[in-house]
Amino acid sequence: MAAAAALLRMSKSSSAQSTAVSRAFTSFVSSRNFSASSSSAYNPEPEIARSPPSSFLSRNSPLPQDPKDRNVQWVFLGCPGVGKGTYASRLSNLLGVPHIATGDLVREELNSTGPLASQLKEIVNQGKLVSDEIIINLLSKRLEAGEAKGESGFILDGFPRTIRQAEILEGVTEIDLVVNLQLREEALLAKCLGRRICSQCGGNYNIACIDIKADNGGPGIYMAPLPPPPQCADKLIQRADDTEEVVKARLEIYNEMSRPLEEFYRSRGKLLEFSLPGGIPESWPKLLEALNLEDHEVKRSAAA
Ligand code: ADP
Repeated sequence: MAAAAALLRMSKSSSAQSTAVSRAFTSFVSSRNFSASSSSAYNPEPEIARSPPSSFLSRNSPLPQDPKDRNVQWVFLGCPGVGKGTYASRLSNLLGVPHIATGDLVREELNSTGPLASQLKEIVNQGKLVSDEIIINLLSKRLEAGEAKGESGFILDGFPRTIRQAEILEGVTEIDLVVNLQLREEALLAKCLGRRICSQCGGNYNIACIDIKADNGGPGIYMAPLPPPPQCADKLIQRADDTEEVVKARLEIYNEMSRPLEEFYRSRGKLLEFSLPGGIPESWPKLLEALNLEDHEVKRSAAA
């Protein structure tokens, strides 16, 4: 309730600087009278799924904005552990747009003393999806806060995760590009289990050395570990949902709830499929090439 009420307040006091995306999200939240505290794990037929998206599109759609006149609005799709965070964050530095990971927003909330914390912890630690209501509330707040600091554009990571979320997003703004990162499933599990986070600086590392041989026509893949620097080495923690059982549940839920997003965006001509050829040293230059951004990086490093 508190989050929804705060959003409502913010929407009333939002200044002319506030851009269309967060305004539209906010007005979507208030028009549906979302109550964050009463929402729980993802329900395949939530209340909002009963009315067609067009009912709020017509009310809340921002004026169309020419993508040339604003920063990029991209989405990263991909299974748990594929590296969405790593590549989305590198691109966000390169392009000067915020990297917004809904998983991070959820973890911040569950580590807080807010009313949702214990409920969220239970859902996330079982690998289940949080309800659309909660996610949209968290995302609206994050967009509002960013816009107040002068941010524009975004690279979304972890949102949308269901067709319903994609329809909501489509109703409030135009997405320019959706990058779908792909990696063999054996590598995904090993990467999640090897993931370590520095409890002090938040840096992401990986202790797994992935070396999968080519078989049945599938390519082999080698990914070197990403060790922490000495100052982080004794401060490493694991995410509570990075256990074998929970990663397997997350992968299953991804296949069921999020995989259909590939077709959703493919049919709109927005999907860029990118199969990771290896670790960061092999994949980053290839990703820049696929995005036509090689020159961008060269210019930026020359200017630095
Ligand atoms: P993953 O490594 O599985 O991609 P994330 O860090 O993106 O994980 O998200 C962690 C958890 O936060 C998810 O398992 C889910 O419980 C919740 N979450 C994040 N984004 C969403 C979303 N868009 N919809 C529903 N739940 C979400």
